Amino acid sequence: MFREDAHFGGHVITPGERRTFRFECGETYHGDSLEIPVTVINGEFEGPTVFLTAAVHGDELNGVKIVQEVARQYDPEDIHGTLVCLHVLNVPGFLAQQRYVPIYDEDLNRSFPGGPHGTLASRLANMVYTEFISNCDLGIDFHTSTRNRATMYHVRADMRDPDVERVARAFGTSVILDGKGSVGTLRRAACRDGIPTVTVEMGRAHRFQTAHLDRALHCVASVLAEHEVLPDRPVSWPGWTRVVARGGEKRWLRAETAGLVEMKWGPHPLVEEGEPLFVVSDHFKDDVEVVRAPSTGLVVGVLENAVAYPGHPLCHFVTVDERTADIIREDIQRGVFDIYREGGFQWPEPRWYAEHRSSPARNTST
Ligand SMILES: [Zn+2]
Repeated sequence: MFREDAHFGGHVITPGERRTFRFECGETYHGDSLEIPVTVINGEFEGPTVFLTAAVHGDELNGVKIVQEVARQYDPEDIHGTLVCLHVLNVPGFLAQQRYVPIYDEDLNRSFPGGPHGTLASRLANMVYTEFISNCDLGIDFHTSTRNRATMYHVRADMRDPDVERVARAFGTSVILDGKGSVGTLRRAACRDGIPTVTVEMGRAHRFQTAHLDRALHCVASVLAEHEVLPDRPVSWPGWTRVVARGGEKRWLRAETAGLVEMKWGPHPLVEEGEPLFVVSDHFKDDVEVVRAPSTGLVVGVLENAVAYPGHPLCHFVTVDERTADIIREDIQRGVFDIYREGGFQWPEPRWYAEHRSSPARNTST
């Protein structure tokens, strides 16, 4: 079938070509240009255009490594469609290694689709959106927890939209948090325009976590397989899926007293009702608060600061039913959750999806 050229950021990428370039998206007050590194892989065969974005929050680096690997991993002769890899979106934040766009701490992920006459964040969002995102068919936006927190590997998606649900399920995380996302997020803006997009959350800011990266590369391949960009690859389904509905089922557990925080949960994110999760104490251990699991559930996101004020969030908690908990316990036995204890810097042998699961997930969604 006749393939067309791809047009992105002022470049024309012919079928069968991989093009890397820097897209000028503004300038600093120092007079230097701000440039987004871009890789476009225009496949030799017809198919959808998929975007991958990282570092919308400038210090969230796991996604930067994932996009770098994806951009080198696939050859145009294997691709049915086009991959648009935006390696770093929040360039000013990335340079400063901070979450927000300096100097006024604007959140780029509350600025989409942006506009040409707004603030720096709004203009940056607008350029990215009009030059790249709006010309894609689906996408994945990679995030991590904010600094001093860690988050379980999960997807956020608007599961009421069947096209978004398809991307989310194909990505194959066990936990999916259902919702449209806040106003101004990249995924909400894209989904509104009919470009099904999910957010992937994993781990910590400021580092590469190799076990997460390894798993995410398999998950990207799975989405590409589901959408027939890689028609010969299997879709990798997780063993269980817990879709957390809007409202109610997920909540922040907070410290009521101020003090030093010890973590008691772990090493796996599944905890039992009444289990002590955190102990908050004053310097003299006169005032000690034990924060317990309100039910059997998953610690999805956790504060890693060792200190807390009253009202400070300690963890993001999701209740799971007994049937789901039993499946998770089996997974723990099989070592699936061991990645939460790994912190090495070596790239490990791929093993998360060593056993490819081609059967549909056991769906325990609500
Ligand atoms: Zn983020």
